[in-house]
Amino acid sequence: MSTSTRFNPASVDFRSDTATTPTQSMLESVLQASIGDDVNNEDDDINELQDYVAQLTGKEAGLYVVSGTMSNQLAIRTHLLTPPSSLICDYRAHIVVDESAGIAQLSNAMPYGIVPSNGKYLTLEDICARVVPDFGNIHFAPTKLISLENTLHGEVYPFEELQRISKFFRGKGFKLHCDGARLWNAHVATGIPLSQYGELFDTISLCLSKSLGAPVGSVLVGDKEFITKALHFRKQIGGGIRQGGMLARMAMIAIKENLPKLAKVNQVTKEVAKRLEANGLVIRESVDTNFIFIDYTKTPIENETLDLIAKREKINVWPQRIAFHYQNIEDQEVLDKLVKVFTEAFELTRDTPELMQKHKDIVFTMEY
Ligand SMILES: *Cc1c(COP(=O)(O)O)cnc(C)c1O
Repeated sequence: MSTSTRFNPASVDFRSDTATTPTQSMLESVLQASIGDDVNNEDDDINELQDYVAQLTGKEAGLYVVSGTMSNQLAIRTHLLTPPSSLICDYRAHIVVDESAGIAQLSNAMPYGIVPSNGKYLTLEDICARVVPDFGNIHFAPTKLISLENTLHGEVYPFEELQRISKFFRGKGFKLHCDGARLWNAHVATGIPLSQYGELFDTISLCLSKSLGAPVGSVLVGDKEFITKALHFRKQIGGGIRQGGMLARMAMIAIKENLPKLAKVNQVTKEVAKRLEANGLVIRESVDTNFIFIDYTKTPIENETLDLIAKREKINVWPQRIAFHYQNIEDQEVLDKLVKVFTEAFELTRDTPELMQKHKDIVFTMEY
């Protein structure tokens, strides 16, 4: 079986960093995978993966789950055992925006999504202003959990601010969770070991299927007691997998082979961002890692126009956000096309009154 000469659709796909395909080494590893039953805790490869990620992050235990959503939701459910309770996070956080109201349904909790006063990340002061201490006032839902996303929209959370927040809140009746779907990218961008991030949080969720390119899964890490309880809730929502060793094998290869490639991903993203800026496009979030967010209020790009031009150039894009991963950064011709597609769509929109109007109608209703 040879996959190396086959066209890889991931090489022209800039919609998401999930748009990777399993490599030959991943697929071949499946034949050596353990075949135990993970629901009975009997699969060697899953156990090894869980232990490995726990060890990387300096935690006692890890739990392999099928998605980042499940990982976050299990973490929240396990932290918030007894309602009524509330949690604090950024208003753009995946846990409130992109997880289908899971917090309301699964944890019966009240999330407060806060707008960062600096426009970038929540500071200790932002959080303090919204925290509800559990001092017995029956009107309130006490804050039990603070969840921080790193990276968020590709931006790296300043480590010093995480330290301040952690120092202030931990061990005082508040739990700290990190939605570290892309903590790998932050770690590579800052050079700060994952274990130092681990010291600041009670629990971290790390995606394997985003930047690292594993076909399936996330790992939730925390202390042993916490992970044992999370395992209980994983079973409750039908998240037990039987012979999942194959998935763990591929994920382990994704970590070992692809984590070192993220530095180049981050670097290429910055280069493309510079080229777009040179062509007059305005970029919104600072480009710390693998995303470019285009400021649509300042850079009109009509969606259908973008779509048509992208189809013509045979690349796959979404409006507004450009995502990079280790499989779409190698071919200079493809990167040139990417710049061309966004630049051309921008210029055409800007110079065509009907397209400008169409674009405005959409931007008016668009939050993200
Ligand atoms: C993608 C993502 C998740 C969830 O991952 P899925 O595997 O798609 O459920 C959680 N948090 C963040 C920040 C993400 O980007």
